Formats: sequence, C-alpha cells, structure tokens
Amino acid sequence: MSYRGRFAPSPTGHLHFGSLIAALASWLCARRAGGHWLVRMEDIDPPREVPGSASSILATLPAFGLVADGPVLYQSQRMAAYDAAFEQLRAADQVFPCWCSRSDLAEVDGMHRDGRCVAAPDHDRPPAWRLRVPDMDIRFDDALQGPQRQNLRESAGDFVIKRVEGFYAYQLACVVDDAWQGITQVVRGNDLLDSTPRQIWLQRCLGLATPSYLHLPLALDASGRKLSKTERAHPVDPDEPLPALRRALSFLDQSVAKDPASVEALLNHALAHFDAASLPHCSDRSAA
Ligand code: GLU
Repeated sequence: MSYRGRFAPSPTGHLHFGSLIAALASWLCARRAGGHWLVRMEDIDPPREVPGSASSILATLPAFGLVADGPVLYQSQRMAAYDAAFEQLRAADQVFPCWCSRSDLAEVDGMHRDGRCVAAPDHDRPPAWRLRVPDMDIRFDDALQGPQRQNLRESAGDFVIKRVEGFYAYQLACVVDDAWQGITQVVRGNDLLDSTPRQIWLQRCLGLATPSYLHLPLALDASGRKLSKTERAHPVDPDEPLPALRRALSFLDQSVAKDPASVEALLNHALAHFDAASLPHCSDRSAA
C-alpha cells in the first residue's frame, strides 16, 4: 500500500507557526515516501470556528509550497458518513445517551466510567452520546515518541462522540475520515498524543484499520505555552514565506539551504536530506 499522509487543520484562525510545522512535517514524510499528501478541513465545530480562516489557511499553504494531491475534504460535508458510523456503534450497543453535566461527573473524579451515569435520563433535553471503553491498555508504537500505553478506563473514561448540541466529536470524525481517505500515517502535534488511544479504540469498534502515528514536538511561545490559533498566535506571512519556512525546518532539525532562490528550492533541498528518524524526539520546544 502506498503512503498517504494528511494535514487536518481546524478553521479556528489563520495558519500560525505551530500548524506550519505539522503541515510541513506531514508533507515531508509523504513526499519522501513517494506517497500522497492530503488536506482535510476539520470544520465540524461551528462555535469554535473563525469566519474566513478555512479559506485563509487553504490560500496560505501553497504559498509555502505545500500543495495537496487532490481536493480538500471538508468535514462539514461528511455528516452522512459520521451518521453511519454512529448508527453502527449504536446498533452494537457501544454507545449510550448521557445527561451527566460536568458537575455531576465531579462527584466521580470527573470521569465517566463503566457506562454508569450520575444524572438520571431527562427526555426533555438532548443527551450527549458516549462510547463505552474497556478497562484495557491500548498500546501503540509512535514513530517518533516510541512505545505508548494508555488505560482507557483510567485516562479517558467513556468519552463523548456526539455532543449535546448534536455535533460529532473530533475523535469520531477524525477516525472515520482517516480511514475513508486511506491515511497510512498520521503526522501531527504532540498535543494529540493522548487522543490516539481513544482513536485506536474507535477504529477497533468500527472495524477500521489503524494507521501508524508520528507525534511532533509542540512549538512553544516565549513563556512556554503552546502556540495555538485560538490564542491568536501570530499568523505566518504568505507574502514572505522563506523566513518562516526556514525556521520551521530548523525547528524540525532538518537541513536548511543557505541561499535558496525560491520556496521550492528550499523544500527540495530539505526533502533531499529528509529522514523522519532525524525529527526531534523531545516532547516540546521553544519556537523562538
Ligand atoms: N484539527 C486538529 C487541529 O487543528 C488536528 C487533528 C489531527 O491532526 O488529527 O488541531
């Protein structure tokens, strides 16, 4: 099977340095493997979305030489697929409706376990839907961070896959689409390392293949916080891509050409020297 990678931004702001790193690393892995690199817009959480950011992100990527192989997949257009996955889980009794609030769950360590609700059913308002998780260790070998193990019951509990507002949760949409797009390796930031066991469990429940995973160190700001779109991290400048691209390659410990004539020359040089094993292993590092 040929390599298929993806970059899956949420439209919660312009492309910033942290997301450029994820886009660039996933692109390098896919190109180096002679595979496909896809872009998926994770626009399934309208309250968190910032108008105009999906088109801004999509216009910025090509300025950095990151051009997808094929059309962008918009999660907002994939509801039928999420409905089908949800129905599959419901038919197998793997999900249950839940009316528990955060304060209800505070009584039980903040975690929903063993399908046991604190709040009584209230048929006058919609429930959230949770996936039952077993008392079981999920193990996987991260291509960068090494062997990982998480007990789902202890660390995640029965987690929400459909929210009270009716929106599907990131975990479900991500798993359905990674499978549908035939993704063979997920390259993304370390902040999602602890979501991965939940995604692997969902893949098993739905009978989907598990791709390999590679979690990158996070870019931190000067005060040690994750750069994130929602905290208004500085957007990268599509009119002057070379400085940010150079910094992103250095952040990823990759070879940076001295005087590249163009974005393409800088990327081609990096690609010619790229080796995924040389990506930085440490969990997080300063972007400064
Ligand atoms: N949409 C997520 C984000 O922008 C990334 C999801 C993923 O790569 O699995 O943080």
